[in-house]
Amino acid sequence: MSLNSSSDKRHAILLVCDGLGDRPSVGGKTPLQAAHTPHLDALSDAGINGLMDVIAPGIVPGSDTAHLALFGYDPYRHYPGRGVFEALGADMELCAGDVAFRANFATVDEQLRVIDRRAGRMGSKELARALNGLELQGVSISLVHTTQHRCAVVMKGEQLSKYVSDMDTHRAGDVLQDCKPLRAGEAERRTAAIVNAFVKRSYEILNEHPVNADRKRRGEPPANIILLRGAGSYEPVPSLKARFGVSAACVAGASLYKGVAKYLGMKLIHAEGATGRADTNLQSKAEAALRALKEHDFVFVHVKETDNDAHDGDFEGKKRIIEQIDQELVARLQEADAYLAVTGDHSTPVSLKRHSSDPVPLVIRGEGVRRDRVKNFDEISVASGGLGRIRGVDLMPILADYMGYYIMYGT
Ligand code: ZN
Ligand code: ZN
Repeated sequence: MSLNSSSDKRHAILLVCDGLGDRPSVGGKTPLQAAHTPHLDALSDAGINGLMDVIAPGIVPGSDTAHLALFGYDPYRHYPGRGVFEALGADMELCAGDVAFRANFATVDEQLRVIDRRAGRMGSKELARALNGLELQGVSISLVHTTQHRCAVVMKGEQLSKYVSDMDTHRAGDVLQDCKPLRAGEAERRTAAIVNAFVKRSYEILNEHPVNADRKRRGEPPANIILLRGAGSYEPVPSLKARFGVSAACVAGASLYKGVAKYLGMKLIHAEGATGRADTNLQSKAEAALRALKEHDFVFVHVKETDNDAHDGDFEGKKRIIEQIDQELVARLQEADAYLAVTGDHSTPVSLKRHSSDPVPLVIRGEGVRRDRVKNFDEISVASGGLGRIRGVDLMPILADYMGYYIMYGT
């Protein structure tokens, strides 16, 4: 197979609305069907539509593996573990062999029983600094505070492994369980021992810290321990540029998506007010994407809130954010002289409050696409479209070919 490009090359924007797909519920409709979305419907009318199994039919995607697939990377081959994306998203430096974790501040009592697994959703840069740079058994440990109670942790040293268990108990009231090796091996045993030593050390340091003394005085839960989960091992992968020939940029608020983008060699574009939460500034994201398109061939734009509302079972909220995306993001992005693709990374039905394997709707609008008969952008209408039903890893080669960067097999 060879990578080719035609002389006439075009740009593309991929808008991913997290957890966009749904099942019929209120009034027998999905939130996408119920929402008033004139701009998305116009895209479907002018474009080619279909359904996409982001990983494979019947497989429920996580957001991390789903995004690898959307960018053309087989998640079964290239998934480094969630911690790697969190660390990259937090702007931490990673080298081959480093092991990274998602981490969070929690509140425990003297018996290390978990009182609040998120420490009242409050972390602190100062507490994070107190733990950053510790050295245990020849391994140096960096810790960076990201948002609320969340942090990312990177361990650098010999013989580390990502095959260790999570420390998060997922339930308040449980005594903290030790981190355990998930495979028989010296690196796994050693990594688990270092994680346990680090967590105990974090309690000793944080429980005595003046920031927590203040919090206790105010009646707030002290952020007196760090819990680690989602171990990942960093190994470099070929970039999107190397794989498809396109220079790529990312406009996202939440650190996971920035991390995935960085892992694949995308340039992170700052959008003022992009938070990955309900208060995110969609207009600012649209402008950042249009600016990025001047210097990059391919721009990935991510919106998180659709998924958050669905996890909360909030049909009206999801419908409202879809309408906002239509008005504030799609209306503006459609003006760009570029292919515009809109989809989700997985379905998150409000009736389930979790991800599901239901395929996601996909539309691609732009020069030369075989316009089909679909007039509305929703899970039911797009099923009769010209793209049929594809997998997530098919999307990037399809877009790249439209753009004039194509992979040819045979002569
Ligand atoms: Zn997702
Ligand atoms: Zn989700």
